[in-house]
Amino acid sequence: MSTQQTGRLYGVGLGPGDPSLMTVRAVQVIAEADVVAYHSARHGRSIARSIAAEHIREDHIEERLMYPLTVETTDHPGGYRGALDDFYEEASARLAAHLDAGRTVAVLAEGDPLFYGSYQHMHKRLAHRYPTEVIPGVTSVSAAAARLGEPLCEAEEILTIIPGTLPEEELTARLASTDSAVVMKLGRTFPTVRRALERAGRLDEARYVERATMAGERTAELADVDPESVPYFSVAVLPSRIDAVAEVREQGDVVVVGTGPAGPLWLTPETRGALAAADDLVGYTTYLDRVPVRPGQLRHGSDNKVEAERAEFALDLARRGRRVAVVSGGDPGVFAMATAVLEAASQDRYKDVPVRVLPGLTAANAAAARAGAPLGHDYATLSLSDRLKPWEVIAERLRAAASADLVLALYNPGSRSRTWQVGKARDLLLEHRSGATPVVLGRDVGGDAESVRIVTLADLDPSEVDMRTILIVGSSQTRLVRRGDGRQIVWTPRRYPEN
Ligand code: SAH
Repeated sequence: MSTQQTGRLYGVGLGPGDPSLMTVRAVQVIAEADVVAYHSARHGRSIARSIAAEHIREDHIEERLMYPLTVETTDHPGGYRGALDDFYEEASARLAAHLDAGRTVAVLAEGDPLFYGSYQHMHKRLAHRYPTEVIPGVTSVSAAAARLGEPLCEAEEILTIIPGTLPEEELTARLASTDSAVVMKLGRTFPTVRRALERAGRLDEARYVERATMAGERTAELADVDPESVPYFSVAVLPSRIDAVAEVREQGDVVVVGTGPAGPLWLTPETRGALAAADDLVGYTTYLDRVPVRPGQLRHGSDNKVEAERAEFALDLARRGRRVAVVSGGDPGVFAMATAVLEAASQDRYKDVPVRVLPGLTAANAAAARAGAPLGHDYATLSLSDRLKPWEVIAERLRAAASADLVLALYNPGSRSRTWQVGKARDLLLEHRSGATPVVLGRDVGGDAESVRIVTLADLDPSEVDMRTILIVGSSQTRLVRRGDGRQIVWTPRRYPEN
């Protein structure tokens, strides 16, 4: 190391294209720099250089960092990745040589340097070795929103920034579950992004901005854009949906969703999106409380007992043009609102109201996963509630399932007013199954009061079971194993011994 002082490294954000959107600080830093460096495509123009052109002087040393061919095929033994790594090493060595000689180096970056910018490859290699400062810039996200002239995200809205290069499935899930979005890096990815917007049900809202604040700028409804005409310097935008002028609809619709057993991790992206898009939420208050509050959205909470009324209420709202989400816990089709809504919708007066059911994660799956894999082979799902069917039917089904050696997932095992069912069910099952059969008691799985315990069928104590509990009763094959850390798990093999 020489005793000479090294130069400073700057990553200089230049904003989205219009030179007048450079910051005062960016202009200052360029003026004081000895070396102005910028990336460019092979023999291509550098967009960054062209934004800063009027600030680059004769006496600036210019370093053009030219990317290797941006095609997938290359002679490099490490493939295109390897060629790129070599390029970044070589480029950063060139900048390091200037810095070692005491020269100040300004690396120009379109937009913001730390936002999908090439500057970052230099930064990672040099910032720990030289005094370094990053000058933030206006990103294409802000520029695109400004050119559209519409709010981008407000209040509790979530803005998701998505590279269009992701696989279609991932794009679809992200677009379905966010409020606002900006999809970057269009160009060749445009047809995929468009399909993802369509699958996420958001194509109508999507706007398109090309070359924001640059020459040749264009904005459009994304659905109207010819895919052949889309350059890399363009973005798709889903603007804020707060205060989006409510469409006057003749007909609304009903979507029946489930929040999952508890907690935010088990809400699917599709359901998250449907909840956000609804004008009205209808459901049992406990489940509605799991859904984030949105301005402008109406909630119609009720207790757990009036399913038919609730279903008709939802359908009536939809007939008046509202988009209604009926909210259950778990999966809406498992002992929940989906059947009630479809039953009501089967009446002639609702036959033209569109109704969709979205799948959700059911309690049995959550409890089983916590305990191991007790549902790994054939199993039966039963509700122990005799509120909507006679106990004799339940008893008959328990006997049938038990004699068929099915694992059992027992929903609604008991409540404050239904206390004897679990004991009766246990005694009935003991006629067919060993007292040592493992039973999983999953209570509030995924919630704050979660507890998952494994007992034997003989020891199953009804007083430990309440409305928030699901029981999983093993078959003759279900194994109970103690792991090295002392934890017990259960699993049911997928093959029978004689196989
Ligand atoms: N649609 C729901 C089930 C509604 S019936 C689903 O798919 O999960 C209500 C019963 O579900 C409860 O009595 C309990 O047996 C079970 N349940 C729901 N959420 C649960 C959770 N987080 N933990 C344990 N059991 C749960």
